[in-house]
Amino acid sequence: MKHPKRDEMVVMATCQQTKRTFGITAQKQGKDFVFTWAFKLNADSAKREGFEKNKVKGNIFMSEDYPGCPHCGAMSWFQCGKCGRFVCMTYEQEEVRCPECGNQGKVVTADKFDLSGGDL
Ligand SMILES: [Zn+2]
Ligand SMILES: [Zn+2]
Repeated sequence: MKHPKRDEMVVMATCQQTKRTFGITAQKQGKDFVFTWAFKLNADSAKREGFEKNKVKGNIFMSEDYPGCPHCGAMSWFQCGKCGRFVCMTYEQEEVRCPECGNQGKVVTADKFDLSGGDL
């Protein structure tokens, strides 16, 4: 596992298909974040590294190199409005379910997540 650089941090994500966790490297660029990388990460080591506490705020973009979910290969993601977890999803998916808390809903548009909602 590569360690994040100074302007980077790792946020926790969960695969919708396999329910396994992975990490996403988020790079801060001005007020925005860019997801640059995703890698397999088990929940125990994430806890040890303190990644579960990491939060991203503002607009999130994906870099061209973003490899997609390391478990199922889904290229997109959403953030659960209930528990705040990032979850992988495919671009075709119209309904999503958070594997962490069971929250279910329809996908609006991928670039219009309300990140101010919940208790983030
Ligand atoms: Zn996945
Ligand atoms: Zn959730």
